[in-house]
Amino acid sequence: MAPGHDKCVLCWLDLVRMRFDLVTIFPEFFAGPLEHGIVRRAGETGIISIHVQDLREFTKDRHRTVDDRPFGGGEGMVLKPEPLFAAVEKLLGHGMGDADNKPILEPKTAIVLMSAAGRKFGQNTARRYAELERIIFLCGRYEGVDERVAEHLATEEVSIGDFVLSGGELPALLVIDAVTRLLPGALGNEASSQNESFAARLVEMPSASRKVATASGKERNSAGVLLDFPHYTRPADFRGWTVPEVLIGGHHAQVASWREEQALAKTRRNRPDLLG
Ligand code: SAH
Repeated sequence: MAPGHDKCVLCWLDLVRMRFDLVTIFPEFFAGPLEHGIVRRAGETGIISIHVQDLREFTKDRHRTVDDRPFGGGEGMVLKPEPLFAAVEKLLGHGMGDADNKPILEPKTAIVLMSAAGRKFGQNTARRYAELERIIFLCGRYEGVDERVAEHLATEEVSIGDFVLSGGELPALLVIDAVTRLLPGALGNEASSQNESFAARLVEMPSASRKVATASGKERNSAGVLLDFPHYTRPADFRGWTVPEVLIGGHHAQVASWREEQALAKTRRNRPDLLG
């Protein structure tokens, strides 16, 4: 799969599980990052398809202007609403309405505006997106995007964290990666996305303040998530730092309970906020 080329036969045949569209002023940005590992394989096997739209193609003036000065004054430039609306309208094949009428959208489609001022993206959002069939990402630049895009074009405004980047392209890539690995068949080993950081898992939490009793007698924190446990591979002794003995013994139940303990300890150490 080469992003940016609309030659995807599986797309025409409607066989792709998830279609991602990226609307950007830097279409070349995506050439490298999507060509590796799980995301590349998911593209090759038709689990996902990725299409990049150059925002400038949706301008009407000679200079292909995508931005303009902010009303009210101040620094920088703002992405204009017209090209973004036109790009989405082309992608969806229907109008996106005006102040007097709003179109009804396909429920399995999201139009996501990447924005430092958006709602925080997390594993829960990734899981919700993995149920969709199509996500259109609008990548901002400069000072941001005309607010009417957030209000009347995007179905959601999403931030990847409490920091400001220079564009929405990296954030969109990050969301594509997180969502793709949750799609059935994308990971070589299906189990691996069920047992990693932020997956809901049952754990013993004797000293956690908020506990939820479960049928198995175990408890989980109210958010239901822990970070991953530590992983080790060969050599067993690296510069005198040895792998924990329990992992070498081959006793499955002991390994499982050690991993549970370690996941909890690591969550306490690095992300106490997850434990409430
Ligand atoms: N003036 C804006 C920042 C604009 S940064 C503000 O203060 O909120 C330019 C573009 O980068 C944004 O339009 C958005 O698309 C992207 N961007 C920057 N930080 C981001 C973040 N944390 N999450 C998602 N997108 C971000």
